[in-house]
Amino acid sequence: MNIQGKVILKKGREASARRFHPWIFSGAIHTLEGNPADGDWVEVQDAGQHTLGYGHYQKGTITIRLLSFLNPPGESFYAEKIAKAFNQRVVSKVITEFTNCFRLVHGEGDGLPGLIIDVYNGVAIIQAHSIGVHKDRQTVAGAIKEVIKGVHSIYYKSQNTLPEKSANEYLLGMSVLPHVVMEHGNRFYVDWEEGQKTGFFLDQRENRKLVGEMSRGAKVLNTFCYTGGFSVYALKAGAELVHSVDASEKAVAMTGKNLELNGFDPLQHRSFVADTFDFLKDKKDEYDIIILDPPAFAKHKDARHQAMKGYQRLNAEAIRVIKPNGIIFTFSCSQVVDRQLFYDTVVSSAIQSGRAVNVLHHLSQPADHPVSIYHPEGEYLKGLVLYVN
Ligand code: SAH
Repeated sequence: MNIQGKVILKKGREASARRFHPWIFSGAIHTLEGNPADGDWVEVQDAGQHTLGYGHYQKGTITIRLLSFLNPPGESFYAEKIAKAFNQRVVSKVITEFTNCFRLVHGEGDGLPGLIIDVYNGVAIIQAHSIGVHKDRQTVAGAIKEVIKGVHSIYYKSQNTLPEKSANEYLLGMSVLPHVVMEHGNRFYVDWEEGQKTGFFLDQRENRKLVGEMSRGAKVLNTFCYTGGFSVYALKAGAELVHSVDASEKAVAMTGKNLELNGFDPLQHRSFVADTFDFLKDKKDEYDIIILDPPAFAKHKDARHQAMKGYQRLNAEAIRVIKPNGIIFTFSCSQVVDRQLFYDTVVSSAIQSGRAVNVLHHLSQPADHPVSIYHPEGEYLKGLVLYVN
């Protein structure tokens, strides 16, 4: 990697980088040397000009994302990092003979801020969240090809994640769509070209499994179902009936195809293209299990207050609707809503409903979405399993 500039921090502002936190904020910078362009690699030094690390420069609140601490990144930088991340997925038993889709790189959690890589049974999807990663995309693709045996295609999809639009394109091979992956032995179609994000929500894998474990004989409502992940697990476990709801017609169509792919009896399932809030309005005592997995209601701190109102209303509705002794799986994937705030919001929903509610489980993101202990901001998926009397 070519280092294009040098950033010297103000006195006393080096502490977080010394503790391996990867973000350098604009307010911490004393001098900038070498006139780097957005996306260039720079060296970061403390006020005494000792090296703290190397990272991508990009004008903005977070001015540098550190990818390497102390050592300058060499030729095989990405290959080494990706090999390490892959090994972590192997050791943590994410990749098994029953699961061939996984997140290979989870940004800061794998020491690669700005980079997401999801692997779907031989196809890798790269998503850049920084201009630096965008500029390095060919090197990243080369590293994946070198390190991950069995990857035959690589698709770059960053059209909506960068400040400026970039074309989605194959960097290696090409693949027929939709593509089939396996997760805990269940099969799913994934369409990274047309689908949301990189095509599939891998982060709910273990929570889907838990829904499966609790669904035998139950009437299940899966709201915000997207491609029907939770619905497939519930039916596989022997749910009596599953209803899936999503506002997107495409998502509901894909849910139907995924149920078919797994060979379920169509009489046990119904899908609805509907707004979840509207759908719940006239329901009561119909479902034993309700799943609430909405999209991030808040993407920025400014939107947090509005988002809390959304979570409050949604959870109050589900608590009102669920059968006595029923179970609610409720999630928030908004990074700016932390675990405590989400919990407090659900408490407020319970109080509003006037029903007795117990917390059975606190849920989170799986091992292929790791959180660096020095970067708690990396924890974004929070869930609660509620038992409603
Ligand atoms: N649970 C899914 C992921 C959910 S993603 C899984 O396991 O794969 C969020 C989904 O909510 C998207 O498919 C989006 O189309 C849908 N959505 C957004 N707003 C909605 C609303 N108001 N009512 C119903 N669905 C909505």
